[in-house]
Amino acid sequence: MFEHCKCLIIGSGPAGYTAAIYASRANMKPVLYQGNEPGGQLTTTNDVENFPGYPNGITGPEMMNELKKQAQRFGTDIRNGWITKVDFSGKKHKVWINDNKILTCDTVIISTGASAKYLGIESEQKYLKLGGGVSACAVCDGFFYKNQEVVVVGGGDSACEEAHYLSKLCKKVTMLIRKNNFRASKIMIDRVKKTKNIEILFNTETLEVLGDESLVTGVKIKNNSTKEISQIQATGFFLAIGHQPNTDIFKKYLNLDKTGYIINELGSTKTNVPGVFVSGDASDNVYRQAVTAAGTGCMAALDAEKYLSELEN
Ligand code: NDP
Repeated sequence: MFEHCKCLIIGSGPAGYTAAIYASRANMKPVLYQGNEPGGQLTTTNDVENFPGYPNGITGPEMMNELKKQAQRFGTDIRNGWITKVDFSGKKHKVWINDNKILTCDTVIISTGASAKYLGIESEQKYLKLGGGVSACAVCDGFFYKNQEVVVVGGGDSACEEAHYLSKLCKKVTMLIRKNNFRASKIMIDRVKKTKNIEILFNTETLEVLGDESLVTGVKIKNNSTKEISQIQATGFFLAIGHQPNTDIFKKYLNLDKTGYIINELGSTKTNVPGVFVSGDASDNVYRQAVTAAGTGCMAALDAEKYLSELEN
């Protein structure tokens, strides 16, 4: 089965849907494949209170539904399916959907996002699904823990940044670092060390996230040097152990950095392959916000539109 489209958008987070709104309105007749997690990372967030235009906040899933409806209103062809393989070697770009159907396209907008890493322990996943106190984004969820005690797992720059951000809202922040040293830059280490309400526990691993079957109430931890097991009180359990951009299928053709983020041309969404553009967290390891993803989604559609009109003239 072969099909051709002018503009393929891969991914259905704020970047993908914003690209879709702009591309549809520019008559590019975009086809958008939603991927395995329709709506992207925001569907795992409870309330989004920092996206401009929602003075009373909105839940992540609701916001993604609104974006989807807005893209559909202008004619985006939104489909279920997972892009399993690409071939960007020719003039027309080729993608495989569920290893089966082949689609060729003049332009591709990659909005596949990134996934926050979690520890993977059962209790963490349980409270993550319940929306009861597990988060991988302090900027998104920190506000709900005002004047409370929280835990941040990780010792890299993200963990320091999250801990410092939370320290301004919360009564106490405890950082759990599995080694006896940070991985973060000196300036970030100094910042958290200087902050009075941040406690740093080295050689410390999480054994269990404790809760009352609806909300997190604490964390059972183990000192891997002394083997001592103890509990700390916390209502928020924040993970900052890294993100993994969802870019594996592109690595044969696109320039990626050492973590896997797609490298785009400065000030544009162009990748090293003409006609292939990137937006959102797939190329952003710094801002990672819904609003910045939406902004680059818009940029990608405008860049793709310009590319198409140059092709046609
Ligand atoms: P990093 O990979 O740099 O750090 C991850 C941290 O999480 C490490 O301390 C690591 O421990 C720990 N960790 C990983 N897996 C586990 C686990 N299973 N259990 C417990 N701890 C774990 O990721 P970051 O997201 O912090 O940073 C990614 C990149 O982005 C870096 O290059 C960073 O410099 C950059 N960045 C820059 C910022 C800035 O400049 N303002 C802000 C945020 C990020 P261990 O050391 O033991 O492996």
